[in-house]
Amino acid sequence: MTDNTSTPAAQGMPLAVIGAGAVGVTTALHLRRLGHDVTLLSTDAPGSENATSYGNAGWLSPGSVVPISMPGMWKKVPGYLLNARGPLRLRPASLPHIWLWLLRFVACGATPARARAIASALRPFLADAPERHARLAAEAGVPDLIQRTGLVIVYPDAAAYEADAFGWQLRRENGVRWRTLDRAALEAACPGLGPQYGFGALLPDGAHCADPGGYVAALAALARERGVRFAAGHVDGFVVEAGQVRGVRTAGGVVACGGVVIAAGMGARALGATLGDTIPLVGERGYHVQLPGVTDEPAIPVMMSDLKFGITPMTGGLRAAGQVEFAPDGAPPDWNRARILLDCLREGLPMMKIGGFGTVRHWMGNRPSTPDCLPVIGPSPTTRGVFYATGHGHLGLVSAPWTADLIGRLVIGAPVPEAAPYDPARFLRFRL
Ligand SMILES: Cc1cc2nc3c(=O)[nH]c(=O)nc-3n(C[C@H](O)[C@H](O)[C@H](O)COP(=O)(O)OP(=O)(O)OC[C@H]3O[C@@H](n4cnc5c(N)ncnc54)[C@H](O)[C@@H]3O)c2cc1C
Repeated sequence: MTDNTSTPAAQGMPLAVIGAGAVGVTTALHLRRLGHDVTLLSTDAPGSENATSYGNAGWLSPGSVVPISMPGMWKKVPGYLLNARGPLRLRPASLPHIWLWLLRFVACGATPARARAIASALRPFLADAPERHARLAAEAGVPDLIQRTGLVIVYPDAAAYEADAFGWQLRRENGVRWRTLDRAALEAACPGLGPQYGFGALLPDGAHCADPGGYVAALAALARERGVRFAAGHVDGFVVEAGQVRGVRTAGGVVACGGVVIAAGMGARALGATLGDTIPLVGERGYHVQLPGVTDEPAIPVMMSDLKFGITPMTGGLRAAGQVEFAPDGAPPDWNRARILLDCLREGLPMMKIGGFGTVRHWMGNRPSTPDCLPVIGPSPTTRGVFYATGHGHLGLVSAPWTADLIGRLVIGAPVPEAAPYDPARFLRFRL
């Protein structure tokens, strides 16, 4: 482990944050608020469609403590893979690169004790996230982008809800509140919902972001106003002297700094490798379709538990987001996955007038996912002054404020015992 006590950041040296997605922008803003001299460098502009933060489902849910990897998941995977319209696809060409990651991923939540440990490590990111995001949005002058309407998860029937009992138990153990809805209550909460959904749960403390790309852009504008400098450019390496980072390298030259936060989403894997750090991220691809101009959309976000996708009312139209696809890095998107989402949307909301695929906007992005369902937040094992803030998988938007809070303490070398589960050093012996 490196010793980050009395860090250059604590002594007032400039900090560079790499990545202008939700995590990087929120972190840069927070570090500036703490009085640091901050430059944010990013390949893409804040709010860009190229960042995963642009196209997500916008859910800010305390209920997301339930890990993706759960006991018994391995039994469901073959069924998902064999179903051409299922929520999971694995392109065979990706297998040689990710099989070890996949095995570890399935194992990480394979027992109730392991799933419970993940849930309690995720809790701090989620518990008060709606409140934190609402404050940030108000500060950035876009209060309407955080909607605190609650969130609904729907099931075919009460038996299907009961089959998810362990997930609901984990939510209860982590202080999440909900109330169940019968078909009549569901119809009142989500008018137009297909008759195949007879049971649901309303999470009243959940919220959603009605335009994730616009939100990131607004937070970036606030950060700029507060004195964060922005530098467009792809970072391809670091200047390191005697084990201490002194600068970041871009095509335009070196930006000198005494500390770096790598908040580059999937880009953190390659940046870590230049330092000799293993940051074993795999891109869990997801897709969305967005229908502009719909008027009869539900007012509250809905998650179809059977088809594993979410429907969220956005300022730019109704968005259906989901699907997990493992594909080789750089392979072109498979827009059939987005077509599946459109079909699921038609089935979920049969009363809505939904046009053909050509009439909807579609998008693909990479969730930066770790093999243990936990983010990577903490000091580089190899290089003093470098910190990671990545690996948030399915939860990067909701988790951004708490991540920024942890980084704010880590960069000055303060003891942050609650960051221990996210320590990058846990992957020292992992090979991807
Ligand atoms: C379909 C889908 C639905 C989702 N739904 C939700 C949801 O409802 N709620 C939720 O909380 N999360 C959700 N997520 C996950 C969430 O979107 C991600 O976890 C989050 O966006 C990751 O944010 P980030 O800032 O780490 O990365 P990104 O948003 O990808 O940003 C990374 C930034 O780093 C820059 N960058 C990369 N490499 C370099 C480099 N070398 N030099 C300079 N810049 C670099 C990129 O240009 C980019 O700007 C969803 C994801 C998907 C795909």
